[in-house]
Amino acid sequence: MTDVTVLGLGDMGAALARCLVESGRAVTVWNRTAARAEPLVAEGAVHALDVSDAIAASPVTIVCVSDYDATRAQLETSAAEEALAGRTLIQLTSGSPVQARALHQWARARNVAYLDGCIIAFPSQIGSEAALLLLGGDREVYESSESILRTLSPRADYLGDDAGRASALDGAILSIGFGTILGIVNGAALCEAADLPVENLSRYTDHALGTFAPFAKFLLAKIVNGDLEQTEAALQTWAAGLDHIIESLGGTGYSDEFPRFTRDLFRRAEQRGLGGHDVAALIELLRPQQS
Ligand code: NAP
Repeated sequence: MTDVTVLGLGDMGAALARCLVESGRAVTVWNRTAARAEPLVAEGAVHALDVSDAIAASPVTIVCVSDYDATRAQLETSAAEEALAGRTLIQLTSGSPVQARALHQWARARNVAYLDGCIIAFPSQIGSEAALLLLGGDREVYESSESILRTLSPRADYLGDDAGRASALDGAILSIGFGTILGIVNGAALCEAADLPVENLSRYTDHALGTFAPFAKFLLAKIVNGDLEQTEAALQTWAAGLDHIIESLGGTGYSDEFPRFTRDLFRRAEQRGLGGHDVAALIELLRPQQS
């Protein structure tokens, strides 16, 4: 027997397995392409050639493959289900809340203790304070697996018995990431379009991101409290900033796709009478519309 099994040895699964091996635990690993297990076996992991053998080798199985379809393809066989019964399954594959809740139900129906998590980290950060692991599902599983989970992420956090919560937060946090990515590349494009070396922007990113980190909390508090009307920087004032960005890109050959898309959202908010509101009022455009 080993302490824990890891199914899936891609970039993230291998990092999880390696971190657990380095912590001194006995680890069984399995991967669809068996060759990917070799480096981990050299580091001390036990290689199982079959999913059900891998599951049977440990009381706890962690899955980290591409998506939920890949997870289900491996678990929904009679041999794997038989091996899982009475054991613990921790799904760390990314997906949606609906997929997570459905897999929790599937597990419950088979007497499998279940936790569903998301990893907010790069593989190289696993095991460090920089890795954030969010989990939802059976509380007893979190408590009994806490030491394994905190090995992977000292900041592991349990969100409650709803297995969909981690995926929901994963999407929400990724959403902040995508907005930032678009902002950064658009900022670089603006510099290039103005013949300003991009290094100049690099000098001020700490200031920019330092300003927007507390602003994120401010906006979310406004949304939570429904306090969308009071502001010291009206939505229409922000919109004028977008106009300047679009104008700056005009005729340069650089794409203004991102600011135009954003400007269109702001225009629709203004058309709904939200121009004098706080910029957090954009949430009104994203909420389900009354027909
Ligand atoms: P990856 O390097 O592309 O590895 C994908 C893994 O899924 C491989 O082990 C692959 O097996 C396996 N797989 C795909 N389809 C399969 C199937 N039908 N049956 C069995 N195994 C299958 O991806 P990754 O970076 O490890 O990501 C894994 C999960 O971690 C994803 O959900 C991802 O969103 C999440 N994640 C990744 C990062 C990151 O920075 N990498 C960060 C946070 C979260 P083969 O080797 O046989 O192809």
